[in-house]
Amino acid sequence: MINSPVETLFGVIDETALLLQEQLACSYLEAVAETGENLFQGEVLQDELSELTKKRLHKKYEEINVSQHENEDIRKAFQFAILKGMKENVQPNHQMTPDSLGLFISYLVNKFTKETEKMTILDPAIGTGNLLTTVLNQMPHKETQSIGVEIDEVLIKLAYVGANLQKHPLELFNQDSIEPLFIDPVDLVLCDLPIGYYPNDLRAQDYELQAEEGHSYAHHLFIEQSLKHTKEGGYLFFIVPNGLFESPFSGQLQSFLKEKANIQGFLQLPLSLFKNKNSAKSILILQKKKDGIQAPKEVLLAELPSLSNQRALQDILSKIDQWLLHNK
Ligand code: SAM
Repeated sequence: MINSPVETLFGVIDETALLLQEQLACSYLEAVAETGENLFQGEVLQDELSELTKKRLHKKYEEINVSQHENEDIRKAFQFAILKGMKENVQPNHQMTPDSLGLFISYLVNKFTKETEKMTILDPAIGTGNLLTTVLNQMPHKETQSIGVEIDEVLIKLAYVGANLQKHPLELFNQDSIEPLFIDPVDLVLCDLPIGYYPNDLRAQDYELQAEEGHSYAHHLFIEQSLKHTKEGGYLFFIVPNGLFESPFSGQLQSFLKEKANIQGFLQLPLSLFKNKNSAKSILILQKKKDGIQAPKEVLLAELPSLSNQRALQDILSKIDQWLLHNK
């Protein structure tokens, strides 16, 4: 049986990561990042390894010529390895954005930015980079320059390695995104928001969306920070909890958004994508206000069907196309 390119790539990433994990006594995820860096540089970079291990790694790397593979094959092979690593060490707020969601967001981004050929993009919670690179791979004809921010060192290394292998220009900052960001305003923000309370009350004081009492919501602060770093008229696509506009702080969020942005859409994702109703999410689409840009006549509201239900999905996509025709 002949393996698909994704299976072949995954096989090499997995085997070499297991070898590195054992020899370096690190986690599987760290080993995936190490092996990705080796593949990108075309050499074995870990000096502490024995000559025998280095030889075994070289032999495996020679089985694939990674630069000749399609971006999507590289991304998917890494995605499988990362999923395997994340199963070993589950951290609820570290979850990678799944393909299905990334592809749907790509569809929306391409529709909303149809006229734009050159774009700067920010993902302030880039994680493994899976969401960002899924979207970038779906816009091969646009000239893009991306910025990613991430607090977790291992995840940001995975994002770095993945973007390198897929040849996407990406500048990375390993820091808390709620701290000041030293970046120019961007055309587009994409973010699968970390949900929950932000622990640093002192820092939250710099935000209009800080809670009046107790900890603020990290996802609210992320929305404010993202809008601050978006050009006027730029679009923002967030993956948010379904109850974003029903929480105790939602009044404050709504007045803030009314002042700074035009809400374009709120699309509820199918429940089947999530473990339970409470963890279900939606896509919030905003456009930062700019003189001369009107708010849409009506906000695009929809409940998405299961993404495998092609017919129902097609109906929704037609509804979105109609909405764009009348509002853009
Ligand atoms: N889209 C990402 C991907 O495809 O891998 C997943 C994003 S995940 C839902 C949210 C990310 O936010 C996590 O990687 C987490 O480490 C990061 N994060 C949480 N709080 C943060 C903060 N204050 N500053 C920067 N990153 C943060």
